[in-house]
Amino acid sequence: MALVVQKFGGTSVADSEKILAAARKAIRARQQGHQVVMVVSAMGKNTDRLVELAREVNEKPPAREMDMLLSTGEQVSVALMAMAIDSMGYEAVSLTGGQIGIKTDSSHTKARIHSISTERMKALLDAGKIVIAAGFQGIDEDSNITTLGRGGSDTTAVALAAALNADQCEIYTDVDGIYTTDPRKLPEACLVRSVCYDEMLELASLGAGVMHSRSIEFGKKFNVPIHVRNSQTDLPGSLIVDELLASPLAVSGAALTKDEALISIYQVPDVAGTILKLFGPIADRKITVDMIVQNVSEDGETTVISFTVPREEMGDAIEAMTPVVDELGGRIGATDQGVSKVSVVGLGMAKQTGVADRMFRSLADAGINLQIITTSEIKISALVKRDVALEALRVVHKEFELDQLVSKELSLEQVASDREPADLDEVVSRLQGIGMEGLMIDDIALDDSQSRITLSRIPNQPGVAAGLFEQISAAGIFVDMIVQSFASDQIANITFTVPRKQLADALEIAKSVGETHGCDKVEHKEAIGKLSVSGIGLRSHTGVAIGMFESLANSGINVEMISTSEVRVNVVVDGQDAAKGLACLEKKFAVS
Ligand code: ADP
Ligand code: ASP
Ligand code: MG
Repeated sequence: MALVVQKFGGTSVADSEKILAAARKAIRARQQGHQVVMVVSAMGKNTDRLVELAREVNEKPPAREMDMLLSTGEQVSVALMAMAIDSMGYEAVSLTGGQIGIKTDSSHTKARIHSISTERMKALLDAGKIVIAAGFQGIDEDSNITTLGRGGSDTTAVALAAALNADQCEIYTDVDGIYTTDPRKLPEACLVRSVCYDEMLELASLGAGVMHSRSIEFGKKFNVPIHVRNSQTDLPGSLIVDELLASPLAVSGAALTKDEALISIYQVPDVAGTILKLFGPIADRKITVDMIVQNVSEDGETTVISFTVPREEMGDAIEAMTPVVDELGGRIGATDQGVSKVSVVGLGMAKQTGVADRMFRSLADAGINLQIITTSEIKISALVKRDVALEALRVVHKEFELDQLVSKELSLEQVASDREPADLDEVVSRLQGIGMEGLMIDDIALDDSQSRITLSRIPNQPGVAAGLFEQISAAGIFVDMIVQSFASDQIANITFTVPRKQLADALEIAKSVGETHGCDKVEHKEAIGKLSVSGIGLRSHTGVAIGMFESLANSGINVEMISTSEVRVNVVVDGQDAAKGLACLEKKFAVS
């Protein structure tokens, strides 16, 4: 007998027929002798409708009342599901988040799960009942109803699977599984049979809306294999598992975040603490800043910092920043609400050259200009104008042959027998006091084996980055971080890091490429330190990056480059500050 969690998304319970079909799936598992917990979303587009209704009566509805309203969607579904199961002769009990004992913090509309009590569910399961849990909701300390953020039922499902130590967590949805990109955007997308947590975390946060990214954090933290399947068929679907089980590729998926805004701030002082001052107020408002790029100072005193935020949060971000920008003597310059971010993700690219240049070349050949570029170990993101964004996605998807991707097929038996069972006690004890969704930091590291090269004032036009990185890659030089920043519509700067022993070769190429574009300055720093903090939940806990900036600023250390991903935040500092920087981060995050 196994314990199975089955989650049904909105379209999978959109009408009575579908509710009955979902009920049959649960009953089938019950007939096979399993204990079954169902997690159910609101029917169809009900949550959207409730959001609209709220806005009709109040432009800025109070978050607490929003949660009270939105949680009703799931309550309708669980009751109907229990009735459907009853009609088929099986016993079921529906429970709200509060009744299950899903305790969250009090950040309404984006609450985090602290703890889940399992006694009641276990007693019901032992009595042979099917438990039907309302997705997306919980209660805070004062019994206020909270919700986990749009798409949050996935997170409820994986969290319940973790808390109950379930054998399987099935996510039933309206597509056959995880695709190389959203199949509704590109019909040529391929089904991926297995993908690892880190890749899925990146894809989910970069726009692959098929899974709520926090659900993958739970999967990784508690080692819960997640099985994504079509609720209308019996096809095998996709498995999200540990990287030791999946076979990571250089590129295994592509994603588009359509509605981004780019903000550039000019004339900010290039000294320790500036970044903290600028981004602190934005983090306080829980706005997630995504791509942050900083130009190398041209006059030695001031610099340009550009970053992206979700388009609808641009106004808020500017409002939050204006007082600090004024105080620093800078000015908010160019803003662009018409941009989208195209990204490719793959665990294998961490060890391979030639991914970035292929991406840049394919986009350049399609005449698509890249406004800014950022990379992390397992992803490359480029900002493009929104009107060419879909085309850009299509181009990179084709370039990496994702339309013909053959991924590793894993059977459930294999996953069950190969996976190392999560040491629940160990994880829970590490998380004591900070809750199940607390930030988990695994490692703080210094890489002092690299050098930095910067090309300033190169033309902001298609093909420049491609040409540079093609030559670098042809010379067998491994490029780690790449940042292309934005000076104006005509001018860009490119900064990248290479192994120190290959600095001379890389510099020669950079100078010759620079010359062909009339670039007046190729600058380098031989000794840099790349400091990184790795763990789970690094981006959703915006405080990590801010905490890094803060502890470095307090020690008078200037941050030269930044790259963030779901599992790691990297900053580059001067080589002379590297050891001191490492020590202050270890102190800050209490890891040694
Ligand atoms: P549910 O209501 O079941 O939670 P969602 O609408 O949240 O369903 O997620 C399923 C949708 O996610 C699909 O219909 C698809 O359009 C979209 N999607 C985006 N990226 C991907 C991807 N990489 N693979 C599969 N589906 C994706
Ligand atoms: N009903 C909620 C939403 O639409 C949660 C979910 O479906 O996952 O966002
Ligand atoms: Mg969903």
